[in-house]
Amino acid sequence: MNFSKEQLMIKSVAREFARKEIAPVSHLYDKKEEFPHDIQAKARELGLINVVIPEKYGGSGLSAVEMVIVTQELSWACTGITVGGVAMSTLMSQPILIAGTEEQKKKYLGLLAEGFGSYCVTEPGGGSDVASMSSTAKKVKDRYILNGQKTWITNAQQASFFVVFAKTDPGARTRGISAFLVDRELPGVSVSKKLPKMGQKATDACEVNFNNVELPSESLLGNVGEGFKIAMKTFDHSRPAVAAMGVGISQRSLDECIGYSKEREAFGKPIIDFQGVSFKIADMGMRTQAARLLTYDAAVKAARDERNTLEASYAKTFASDTAMWAATEAVQIHGGYGYSEEYPLEKLMRDAKILQIYEGTNEIQRVVMVKELTKS
Ligand SMILES: Cc1cc2nc3c(=O)[nH]c(=O)nc-3n(C[C@H](O)[C@H](O)[C@H](O)COP(=O)(O)OP(=O)(O)OC[C@H]3O[C@@H](n4cnc5c(N)ncnc54)[C@H](O)[C@@H]3O)c2cc1C
Repeated sequence: MNFSKEQLMIKSVAREFARKEIAPVSHLYDKKEEFPHDIQAKARELGLINVVIPEKYGGSGLSAVEMVIVTQELSWACTGITVGGVAMSTLMSQPILIAGTEEQKKKYLGLLAEGFGSYCVTEPGGGSDVASMSSTAKKVKDRYILNGQKTWITNAQQASFFVVFAKTDPGARTRGISAFLVDRELPGVSVSKKLPKMGQKATDACEVNFNNVELPSESLLGNVGEGFKIAMKTFDHSRPAVAAMGVGISQRSLDECIGYSKEREAFGKPIIDFQGVSFKIADMGMRTQAARLLTYDAAVKAARDERNTLEASYAKTFASDTAMWAATEAVQIHGGYGYSEEYPLEKLMRDAKILQIYEGTNEIQRVVMVKELTKS
């Protein structure tokens, strides 16, 4: 990639912030399972959270390319912190940018510029088959009455509003879904305790319940029945962010392994002198670079407003599989220390796993790829 001067500058700001402010404390927030308000506030001040939100709504006004640059750099230090900041801001801003009215953009992108929101698709009954959701939004005179339960909702405890997908026509599948902007303080909205999870513990995921929530008609995002389309277009922009988190984890795994394998000795020589170790490091470098290039490819297309559904799925799948593989090998190369909570490797491995699951599992990505590859 040939980066512009501005891109190199934001890369260096993000890198320094990741290394100085996030890396030294990431394991503490992970251990306490605490949302790092102070770190997110500093990142926001530096323009490292609302990267793709236009300046007139309070964001940095940059493109998907700068977003993946920032996301990679911060993820090198901690994806648990990155997902709650820049990655969620990217996911949350897209449906509003894609389908919002000027009033909705002013209000809700403004809320994101100052705080957080959550994206509510998944239900206890299933996440992959979005069209089978059972949440409903029933039109009664000039209002919608929202009912349903969403689960695994990232940042729900921090959110001041939710983008919620619900059926306005329960008999229909994808065309029966509409999207709504739902203020948290509305009667009938409730958020559960944090759901216990394997990794990315510095960001919460909760259940969110909507019990006869009365929504004014201005809460509808886009047109009735357009929810599925909005959700899928949103993923085209947010999957490159998941890919970038994967690149960050792979690069960190590689950097840790290079340093450790040159110093750690066995049988009288540094372990990097054993081909069984050094070839793993070579593969880690090669796969990380391939994941990075796929991520940039998807982001460049998004920045040009070109359709990137296939590229976004390629990048998300390859980069998350690479991150899981690289982190697992990094634990192995560090031997017993790799398994220790005093080294960063076991956390990388726990954090990497979710990248293969959320924003469409890697099996669902392959369903998307085949559909894109075979359409005439
Ligand atoms: C930490 C965390 C944070 C999350 N954050 C959010 C969020 O902010 N908002 C949100 O809406 N959701 C969120 N999710 C939910 C996530 O997107 C879903 O878990 C995911 O989409 C999978 O859905 P599911 O868990 O219901 O699995 P299921 O859909 O039940 O799938 C189970 C398994 O079957 C496989 N499978 C299903 N269908 C097919 C098929 N057609 N072909 C091949 N294999 C198939 C899947 O790949 C998976 O391996 C989060 C999840 C977690 C764990």
